[in-house]
Amino acid sequence: MSSESREKSGRPTSTSETKDIKNTYYLETMTSILENRAALREEIEKIAEVAGYLWQNGWAERNGGNITVNITAFVDKGIRELPAISEVKPIGVTLPHLKGCYFYCKGTGKRMRDLARQPMRNGSVIRILDDCSSYVIIADEAVMPTSELPSHLTVHNHLIEKGSPYTATVHTHPIELVAMSHSKKFLEKDVLTNILWSMIPETKAFCPLGLGIIPYQLPGSVELADATLRELDDYDVVLWEKHGVFAQGLDVMDAFDQIDVLSKSAKIYINARCMGFEPEGMSQEQLKEMSAAFNLPK
Ligand SMILES: [Zn+2]
Repeated sequence: MSSESREKSGRPTSTSETKDIKNTYYLETMTSILENRAALREEIEKIAEVAGYLWQNGWAERNGGNITVNITAFVDKGIRELPAISEVKPIGVTLPHLKGCYFYCKGTGKRMRDLARQPMRNGSVIRILDDCSSYVIIADEAVMPTSELPSHLTVHNHLIEKGSPYTATVHTHPIELVAMSHSKKFLEKDVLTNILWSMIPETKAFCPLGLGIIPYQLPGSVELADATLRELDDYDVVLWEKHGVFAQGLDVMDAFDQIDVLSKSAKIYINARCMGFEPEGMSQEQLKEMSAAFNLPK
């Protein structure tokens, strides 16, 4: 099809399609915070890569899911001096450990599949102000952060308070894990963890804390945020009943990897059940042997 007939049919012109293919995620006519900042760019590119995986896995329908990353370690004097491009906005909670921190946040209503191509147009960088209860957007565009920002930032505040090296939080809707959360038998403490660990040895090695369980709560509620915060003291990934998972990690890729590993085990379990049998699973002795061999915490 020629570009002319595309124009007639109302489809994008070949020029704009080419821009998409080139993965252009900053406006060519304006300066991006990522210019001449290779380390920060790499971090944002990781976020975009993970957003693509969430979409490709079918875990991020419409605007589902959130990613929030503490990028303070990549912030230089020039970024600290950047003026606000939004009004001062209240977080809704006071988070004393976030003073002067900077975060990349997915934008409200934005889609992971768009963020994968254009992270700086579907999310923004915010600066937490000195009162620790408000923030401004500083780059690249005034994209309002997700409505889940208070709960994500509350987790980040707690991570810094604990001296944790974790910088990333991810919420998404993995199909198999959410499906399993519809059965009460899987929601007893550590029942699902033990099933998932026993499906393939690597799951215990790469998700050594297992999967925490949060009984159903209204999305976006204070109760859900509080329960998540408590459970994340014992687990890196928690399952929200009939909804999705919330994960924390060293960076966004680490948080994604843990969800991916657990999801792989869930797929193996479900595949076995679809073939008509209850999978045997590794024995408790074999799981203990894994813990000893790899010096695992549980
Ligand atoms: Zn959700």
